[in-house]
Amino acid sequence: FDMFFLAFVERLFRPTFKKYDFVLGKKLGEGAFGVVYRASLSKKSSFKVPYQKDGDLVLKKATEYGAVEIWMNERVRRACANSCADFVYGFLESSSKKGTEYWLIWRYEGESTLYDLMHSKEFPYNVETMILGEVQELPKGLERENRIIQTIMRQVLFALDGLHSTGIVHRDIKPQNIIFSEGSRTFKIIDLGAAADLRVGINYIPKEFLLDPRYAAPEQYIMSTQTPSAPSAPVATALSPVLWQMNLPDRFDIYSAGLIFLQMTFPGLRSDNGLIQFNRQLKRCDYDLNAWRKSVEPRASSDLRKGFELLDLDGGIGWELLTSMVRYKAGQRMSAKAALAHPYFAREGLLVLSFMQ
Ligand code: ADP
Ligand code: MG
Repeated sequence: FDMFFLAFVERLFRPTFKKYDFVLGKKLGEGAFGVVYRASLSKKSSFKVPYQKDGDLVLKKATEYGAVEIWMNERVRRACANSCADFVYGFLESSSKKGTEYWLIWRYEGESTLYDLMHSKEFPYNVETMILGEVQELPKGLERENRIIQTIMRQVLFALDGLHSTGIVHRDIKPQNIIFSEGSRTFKIIDLGAAADLRVGINYIPKEFLLDPRYAAPEQYIMSTQTPSAPSAPVATALSPVLWQMNLPDRFDIYSAGLIFLQMTFPGLRSDNGLIQFNRQLKRCDYDLNAWRKSVEPRASSDLRKGFELLDLDGGIGWELLTSMVRYKAGQRMSAKAALAHPYFAREGLLVLSFMQ
């Protein structure tokens, strides 16, 4: 009850933006369920601060599934605001020619997703510069790259831990859905379009929606059928902690995060083809990373060997962490919280002057 009440009170006191409050800019993305634009507050809008700078906002025009995405973003804003892009407002826009549309507004966090950054020849040094705002004088090499990747993984896991502690499973964790926030100089999660809220049982993935198969854990189909779809709130609140324990649905995201870790350490696995080929190999090894390593290491390219070398630093704690995340059985994967306490993160990462580090 208190959650719904809070949501109601918050709604009362937030500005109620309308369609004509916004001017659309460049298109940033287009998926099956929505189009995303960079946007500004219109000159005619009566709302001024704090969204008055040009292109300060991001606007998503979503289909009927936008309602769930608004719910998730409002939950995140109240419970774990630092985990995700700053959500401003969401509303039903019914005057559109296309019929019912939901409009979602966020603050514009910056121009790069982890996907963009990972596909630069400079990676991971380009990220180091963005996080620190300066160029390091230390020599380039494995140690330094490991430190940068460690810092990125810590930020991603920190954001995931926030979501999971709130009872939200993202279900579409991938580099394209991780944005670098230029304001806080940290990575944040975006795109809660496929997320499930287990505390209240809100879990809606339309039949035609396929989770991204490149990053999905092997239990992808089981999860969407075992989780009840939006039962009445009091029942769900009583049941869902049990459900959470039984299925450990948060570990679905951990698998995806593990694949991101893998892609950061092995440049050859960053491309679609590289990742798809890896997934095929891993499946053939019954999702046993150690078996995969045994099968590829003897004839590994210098690129692959470099990745293993990086994960083998400090007695192989990187490899240990990776193999605790990418496992067939959800119950054997580490939680985000446990991963953050893993010895891999005990060593100093980038020295970032931020309370979140
Ligand atoms: P979808 O994947 O459903 O098209 P997303 O929510 O992932 O929609 O957004 C699409 C793209 O728009 C992202 O990959 C990112 O490049 C950009 N984007 C989304 N939200 C923000 C934001 N708050 N700040 C900056 N860019 C964003
Ligand atoms: Mg996306």
